[in-house]
Amino acid sequence: MIKKIDHIGIAVKDLKEAMNIYRNILGLKFKNTEVIEEQKIIHATFLAGRVKIELVQPTHPDSTVGKFIEKRGEGMHHIAYRVENIDESLRELNAKGVKLIDEKARIGADGAKIAFIHPKDMKGVLIELVERAEGK
Ligand code: ZN
Repeated sequence: MIKKIDHIGIAVKDLKEAMNIYRNILGLKFKNTEVIEEQKIIHATFLAGRVKIELVQPTHPDSTVGKFIEKRGEGMHHIAYRVENIDESLRELNAKGVKLIDEKARIGADGAKIAFIHPKDMKGVLIELVERAEGK
């Protein structure tokens, strides 16, 4: 079901400051920034080889990422795995009794199909599934 790690999401309070660290201190290649109104976030994507690092800043304290930062502070937010067919993966997980945040896939950054699995059944790690065209 899982092909590879698509990206790692990191929750940050100040995107500009975080971008400076990832670009100028770690020297990762900057890809793009994107505002996702629906999730009340703005994010910046960097490339670490073929794995993307996604810095996520909430644009509203009410957002899920905003609440996450308030509760746990900045840091690792989620791991995203690339899957071939997200609808099939969600059906499979549902059949296995895994608690899902998204029962159905929705459109995320870059037009990819995404869905989140609840951390409760994943040893405290928020997991995102991503289906996107190869090479993206
Ligand atoms: Zn993500």
